Amino acid sequence: LPESRLYQSNDKSPLQIFVRAKKKINDIYGEIEEYVHETTTFINALHAEAEIVDKAERELFESYVHKVAGIREVLQRDHMKVAFFGRTSNGKSSVINAMLREKILPSGIGHTTNCFCQVEGSNGGEAYLMKEGSDEKLNVVNIKQLANALCQEKLCESSLVRIFWPRERCSLLRDDVVFVDSPGVDVSANLDDWIDNHCLNADVFVLVLNAESTMTRAEKQFFHTVSQKLSKPNIFILNNRWDASANEPECQESVKSQHTERCIDFLTKELKVSNEKEAAERVFFVSARETLQARIEEAKGNPPHMGAIAEGFQIRYFEFQDFERKFEECISQSAVKTKFQQHSSRGKSVSGDMKKMLDDIYERITIFRNLKQDQKNLLTERIQGTETQMMQVTREMKMKIHNMVEEVEEKVSKALNE
Ligand code: GDP
Repeated sequence: LPESRLYQSNDKSPLQIFVRAKKKINDIYGEIEEYVHETTTFINALHAEAEIVDKAERELFESYVHKVAGIREVLQRDHMKVAFFGRTSNGKSSVINAMLREKILPSGIGHTTNCFCQVEGSNGGEAYLMKEGSDEKLNVVNIKQLANALCQEKLCESSLVRIFWPRERCSLLRDDVVFVDSPGVDVSANLDDWIDNHCLNADVFVLVLNAESTMTRAEKQFFHTVSQKLSKPNIFILNNRWDASANEPECQESVKSQHTERCIDFLTKELKVSNEKEAAERVFFVSARETLQARIEEAKGNPPHMGAIAEGFQIRYFEFQDFERKFEECISQSAVKTKFQQHSSRGKSVSGDMKKMLDDIYERITIFRNLKQDQKNLLTERIQGTETQMMQVTREMKMKIHNMVEEVEEKVSKALNE
């Protein structure tokens, strides 16, 4: 479907592009699966009855059944993935919590996790944890328990803990967005492993900076490595803790423009992942902690500014919402392209191959049918010839007998006369 049509819905979220495309492609693959099953049954019958199809062809068809089933399984699990990076305590967990509108990930000193945490939607209203390499669901009753569970575990820095949170609690989880929080880029020596294990399939990266300081070498280095491995990764930069700037209003604008310039230069000149215009739309000044507080107040039915930390709340709150909107547009378009384009072309090639095979089989059936018809015609001709021949013979015999009888009669009457 063209994007414009995908947008036409009651739900105006740009994430719907992905949600609808996923539904559509799943439906199409459902039809392809049905078609492949039907055709396989037909092919097997042809093999059994007339041996028009050989064993290799039957096996090839069976392989399509498995291929399509495999793609369907992957499709059902496909999601949009966003990964957050930055130094410890810059506010990565707080940004994720603000976007989820709930304090799900533990944040703050003493509650910093030293492994990767992935938050994804769960069905059936259940909240639980799963550690890497285990299928065991560790039930989480409340957030405090989750925080303790994460802190008590002696987890390897590049291991992954998956947090399943009820889909219906948050629209982003409902729409298949998966969040990955990383340990701080300052604590890791294994950036390469991180990227290989957790980042290669991320649709969007968010670099969370502390607006009170400048970007560090570790933060830059990480994205240099990412952009060597991925062609043009989508990177957003959040200058977090911008509420702190309210304390120094006289230099707020100059600090902002200095940060903006550095961030744009980083994206355009250093990483070369965006042009100037795009980069300018990827840099934001926010306060995650304040946004989260505001949203918690909103959930209680209070006005959002009750969560304000400092002067200028409204601007920062709008900026956070602006970030979310641009992020949603970017992630859903990128995920549709990277995930479904591949599946569509595989689906196209499978159905193309099947069509070619069926055309071949059809041709063979036609030849087979014509051959049978020819044989039938030949036989009919032969029967007709034999019939004419027999009629002629019969006629001749009749004549012969008639003549013989006449001859005999003549001879008898002659003998009698004599
Ligand atoms: P992480 O280590 O990058 O995940 O950082 P956290 O989200 O755990 O945040 C570290 C500390 O900074 C916590 O105490 C947060 O409440 C605080 N924090 C996060 N974002 C902000 C912000 O925008 N403004 C202020 N004032 N504090 C923040």
